[in-house]
Amino acid sequence: MEVKMSKLKYVYFFGSGKADGRAEMKNLLGGKGANLAEMTNIGLPVPPGFTITTEVCTYYYSNKKSYPKQLKEDVAKSMKRIESAVGVKFGDKNNPLLVSVRSGARASMPGMMDTILNLGINDAVVEGLAKKTNNPRFAYDAYRRFVQMYGDVVLGLKPVHKDEIDPFEVIIEAKKKEKGVHQDTELTTEDLKDLVAKFKVAIKEKTGHNFPEDPMEQLWGAIGAVFGSWNNDRAIAYRKMYDIPESWGTAVSVVAMVFGNMGETSGTGVAFTRDPSTGENIFYGEYLMNAQGEDVVAGVRTPIPISGLAQENPKIYNQLEKIRKTLEKHYRDMNDIEFTIQEGKLYMLQCRVGKRTAFAAIKIAVDMVDEKLITEKEALSRIEPDQLNQLLRPVFDLKEKDAATKGGRLLAKGLNAGPGAATGRVVFNAPDAEEWFKRGEHVILTRIETSPEDIRGMDASAGILTARGGMTSHAALVARQMGKVCVAGCAALEIDYPTHTMNVGGKVIKEGDWISIDGTTGQVIEGKVPTKPSEVLQVLIDKTLDPKDAPIYQQFEKIMKWADKYRTLEIHTNADQPDQAVNAVAFGAEGIGLCRTEHMFFGEGKIEPMREMILADTLEARKTALAKLLPLQRIDFEGLFEAMDGKAVTIRTLDPPLHEFLPHEEKAQRELAEQMGITFEKVHQRVEDLHEFNPMLGFRGCRLGIIYPEITEMQSRAIFEAAANVQMKGVKVHPEVMIPLVGNIKELENQAKIVRQAAGEVMKEKGVRLNYKVGTMIEIPRGALTADEVARVAEFFSFGTNDLTQTTLGVSRDDAARFLRPYTEMEIYAKDPFEVLDRDGVGQLMKIAKEKGRSTRPELTIGICGEHGGDPSSVEFCHMIGLNYVSCSPFRVPIARLAAARAALTYPAAPAKKAAKKPARKPAKKSRK
Ligand code: PEP
Ligand code: MG
Repeated sequence: MEVKMSKLKYVYFFGSGKADGRAEMKNLLGGKGANLAEMTNIGLPVPPGFTITTEVCTYYYSNKKSYPKQLKEDVAKSMKRIESAVGVKFGDKNNPLLVSVRSGARASMPGMMDTILNLGINDAVVEGLAKKTNNPRFAYDAYRRFVQMYGDVVLGLKPVHKDEIDPFEVIIEAKKKEKGVHQDTELTTEDLKDLVAKFKVAIKEKTGHNFPEDPMEQLWGAIGAVFGSWNNDRAIAYRKMYDIPESWGTAVSVVAMVFGNMGETSGTGVAFTRDPSTGENIFYGEYLMNAQGEDVVAGVRTPIPISGLAQENPKIYNQLEKIRKTLEKHYRDMNDIEFTIQEGKLYMLQCRVGKRTAFAAIKIAVDMVDEKLITEKEALSRIEPDQLNQLLRPVFDLKEKDAATKGGRLLAKGLNAGPGAATGRVVFNAPDAEEWFKRGEHVILTRIETSPEDIRGMDASAGILTARGGMTSHAALVARQMGKVCVAGCAALEIDYPTHTMNVGGKVIKEGDWISIDGTTGQVIEGKVPTKPSEVLQVLIDKTLDPKDAPIYQQFEKIMKWADKYRTLEIHTNADQPDQAVNAVAFGAEGIGLCRTEHMFFGEGKIEPMREMILADTLEARKTALAKLLPLQRIDFEGLFEAMDGKAVTIRTLDPPLHEFLPHEEKAQRELAEQMGITFEKVHQRVEDLHEFNPMLGFRGCRLGIIYPEITEMQSRAIFEAAANVQMKGVKVHPEVMIPLVGNIKELENQAKIVRQAAGEVMKEKGVRLNYKVGTMIEIPRGALTADEVARVAEFFSFGTNDLTQTTLGVSRDDAARFLRPYTEMEIYAKDPFEVLDRDGVGQLMKIAKEKGRSTRPELTIGICGEHGGDPSSVEFCHMIGLNYVSCSPFRVPIARLAAARAALTYPAAPAKKAAKKPARKPAKKSRK
């Protein structure tokens, strides 16, 4: 729901059981601010605070990094309200208030922006804090953490080189060494005091900044840094990856500090209301006593599973369990939460809808429908269509993995943070991962722990492996969201960044060595381990697994059933071979939307007569070669018709330029000449004759069949003979012959005549009636713009959006990569237009073609068979403009089914599937000509 706000309200307070904001105000308050307000309103224990709106962020960037005038006063007033809610004072030497300053955008961007804790301490306040808490160690620990975070985030003291360790960690490590201790917790108050002093010196030396003593100066420095972090490198990269517009901006929440590091009755944790990896309905999380939140998330110490808290502090555990139920009921979704226990009292610091793997997404959706928490429609809206890819991903072959582990190749075991199987070469930092990936390598990014800076390298990796950190560490969260395989917290890895090696139980693994990681079990194995198909594939494609024994498959099937119930688009597939067709049908395809006949010519025994045909000098010689091809094509088509068992099969006549069937290398040309019994010169000359500067716009498509009608004749014959043969066996057939690259009605008339003549002849010869259609691809702008004329002849349209994109944009589909990537980075095109349909350009032509086509032939069936047919956003557009079907590659069929259902639920007014099934031959309006 869009919430209208007074333009003048820049700060929203929450505290003492009441909040100005609420959950629906995410756009204004960011996810964090809105949910802190909501939790306050529903009576959960939230420390008081306030949120500065995202509008201030927008103002900040459009006004040279300044704030609206009124903000200073609003912030000061809100600070006073926090003070009176808690009964302490900001900057007070005896009874000080400390605050956290947190970022929070509309969409969650885990760890990408900055946060500062313990703000408000200085040399005087720390003493007061020590006295008040009677815990000097705690006070100095808080101080050193604050100086460290502030020094990094606001004053900019960070590592400068990829192999460098955090400069603050270097100082801490030196201190630990000096004192002969291993844990931070073993450092004394004096040690911490010394660290604070050393940190301040390092900050001054390396950045030139004095550390600010004035708490108000600290606060404004932090607010500025958090707004500033909206535009740091990693936030920008993340926004690109997840399509988050720059214009959204972040909110800033300032919240009274509560401390998890006040001793053994204090602690902190993060948890999910269900298991985010598997979706199991269990309270899932981890905590650390005597620690602050960053320790858990950053993976610096490996935390304890939340079940441990049930023993350690049953009262708090039960309170959390209750909150878990309240949140699920209230939000009707799986949540992730952050909490802190301060001296035995529980506080909620954050809640949001939790990120999850595809496995978890489907299980949670299905379970929540069973639990009557959500409806089927809501369940569908909870699963991103592209996530289904994860369910189809390979898993390790268990036998091979067993052999590897029994053979001594099991290196270690970590946490199963991101399910799936990945094999790759070890790299030890994110820039290397990116670089190796660009060279075509499969890499496993192996880090002590990951940080948000690593986001691009993580994206480039097949899998992610970390030595530290739990199931909610940065590596685990981000990997799950990206759908990457991840093993986290693998303590046995002793990683040495400078030498790019790691020691695992005495074995040294070097950069570039192969390892395999199993994100489902947490195993790390030396070398490569072969993979095998996923559970869904074992049931549907290989048929080696009984659905009864396949729980993931059962959930997948349920979601697919619901999707089918609500979608109005039909889902067809692009398939050229019977086995592909069978797979597609198993995935739910309702027809073949595109059979590219050219692929068939590369099969056994077919390329030779094809080449003979191309090299022929005379019509007679060409016909002789074509006669050899005809029976081979017929067999292929028979296989397709049989596999599709009565479903529509759309077969396209020959499309690519002929030189694609001839060899381009001299050696291969000589071999071909010998094989054909002709001279090398002749072969070479023919290849030269056929050469085109841009073959994708040259002598191809229907132009081939118009200049060489005998090719269309042969293909049509093969199609109809196959159809007749299969029909005579008692199998229903629905052939649809599709003419490519039509831009002028006369082209289609020419080709349709040949097709219909062949159909008539075959029907007569075989004594059967075939129910067939002749249609066209709409893939060049002229075809779209004259679609009313084209529809006089075409009984169906199929948008070839690969070609329609290149011809509309004037961008060659074969050599565009060089500039399309920078183009999308510069947001000239939001997405690669060959992946995601360009709605404003290509989409407009599709709309025109649809309207014009149906003005001539109201029942015209219209689909899409370009690659966009399997892209969720493009599927949505096809639904919105009222197409009848989308056609995509077999493995994208489930994605298209779900995308079509979600589109139908979002845009329910689009025409129903039933209308499309009526015969396409309705009275055509007279042409204007
Ligand atoms: C298209 O152009 O979208 C299409 C499906 O045809 P091809 O990719 O084979 O040119
Ligand atoms: Mg095309």
